[in-house]
Amino acid sequence: MPLKLEANQKATVTSPFGPRSLDGFHYGTDFVTGSDATRIIAAADGEVIISDNTTDTLGYAEMVVIKHSDTLYTSYAHMKAGTRTVKVGDRVKQGDELGTIGMTGMVTGVHLHFEVGRWGVGGMQDRVDPMTVIK
Ligand SMILES: [Zn+2]
Repeated sequence: MPLKLEANQKATVTSPFGPRSLDGFHYGTDFVTGSDATRIIAAADGEVIISDNTTDTLGYAEMVVIKHSDTLYTSYAHMKAGTRTVKVGDRVKQGDELGTIGMTGMVTGVHLHFEVGRWGVGGMQDRVDPMTVIK
């Protein structure tokens, strides 16, 4: 299943997936667009399983998680408060708007933290480098 992000959504990768000094390992890709008005879109068809201001220890805050299959999930973190347009149980199509890029939670600036993996107990598991699956 090819994942897609809006062109301007992946304009600049400020922090790639992989080891980093800040927190040991970065489990997603950070995208910055230079705007706090950029729409976040669903990377593929699926079902919304989380749309909440999460209080997990990772500081993701305003977050949406979409299930695309039993083994493929995507998450969108640090969204702008009040902009989430989907709720748990919603079926979304690739390209559907989920909300707006923001800086809620543990961040230093406006960006989208995007993860690809399998959602399980405690959050996303078996995460892979999003850039290897985005077309
Ligand atoms: Zn990040």
